[in-house]
Amino acid sequence: MGTCRLCGKRSIIISDVIGFCANCIREHPQETLKPISLIRYRERSSFGLPHKPPKGGNVRCSFCVNQCELNEGELGFCGRFVCKNGKIKINAPSPGLTALTFYHDPLPTNCVASWICPASTSEGYPEFTCTEGPEVGFKNLAVFYQSCNFDCFYCQNWHFRDKTTHRFYKSEDVVDAVDEKTNCICFFGGDPTPNILNSLDIAEKACNLKKEFLRICWETNGSVNWKFLERALSFAMKTGGCIKFDLKFFSKSLNLALCGTDNSWTLDNFKKAALLARKRPHPPLVIASTLLVPGYVDSYELEGLASIIASVNKDIPWSFLAFYPTFILNDLPTTSWDHAKLAERIAKKYGIKNINIGNVHLLSNSYKISP
Ligand SMILES: [Zn+2]
Repeated sequence: MGTCRLCGKRSIIISDVIGFCANCIREHPQETLKPISLIRYRERSSFGLPHKPPKGGNVRCSFCVNQCELNEGELGFCGRFVCKNGKIKINAPSPGLTALTFYHDPLPTNCVASWICPASTSEGYPEFTCTEGPEVGFKNLAVFYQSCNFDCFYCQNWHFRDKTTHRFYKSEDVVDAVDEKTNCICFFGGDPTPNILNSLDIAEKACNLKKEFLRICWETNGSVNWKFLERALSFAMKTGGCIKFDLKFFSKSLNLALCGTDNSWTLDNFKKAALLARKRPHPPLVIASTLLVPGYVDSYELEGLASIIASVNKDIPWSFLAFYPTFILNDLPTTSWDHAKLAERIAKKYGIKNINIGNVHLLSNSYKISP
């Protein structure tokens, strides 16, 4: 049972780690964001990462929404870029290397899009898959980037922040892993956003292999500079792949509080991408997912996100994922069935047709949400 330090409300779905309820963060960002930033300061310092996007430096990085302004030797918020000799450079032992890991997953995988993509369904057959149904016997090449331009307190892959785990590879190393049984590549992490040029390079080299089926997909917070996202969309479009947008919050203040960044580029990019997706509805080019953080991704946030999706393209599939306590946000329960059903009702109310509740095994029975 947590207590909001501003309004005094007590509930099992208020986090004492955060210290404030969703309403107070939305309505009183001036009072709530500063104390929350101190939590982030402690967390980021332990990994040697800036606690907020640096501002006031001489050189601006334009890869993502953070638009870090760096002085000589200063690291960007994502830790992927550094200012060297007055230029934005990749922070790696030598040029051309990127901190990532890659591995094969047998298809069909548990990816966010699996309920609606050619790897597991008849979507996209026969143009983008050789099987009408699950691609049994084939593989996905998962490319996990060890950096991110968001800092979610509930990050499920938070270990990538530890630099001692970083491994560096060239694009060619990843492309060499594409074999005859590899039917798709998925870039995730961390996030592909700070690594977008590397992912586009891998995508291009992989397409040059001229495999009959090789779908290229990105799973992302969607906050990359649109000019790069447009190129990713074009690879996904022609290969039968997709862009999976993780729509975390509708309200900027909640995104700033729980994820450390502004969500305006995510929402703007999503709208543009969802419009483009009308050109290739099958298999879906753009897929939305939202992690149902108890108490924080509440009906207000879900209504806001639903209204955005519905305003551009009601055919965009939307998947709801269950939260489990992890990393900093370790004092909330798992998502309840009631919460998942609420999300589903809201999506339906806005006319969104393809809805999925993912990782249902994590959903908990209902709990009393207010005293
Ligand atoms: Zn409150």
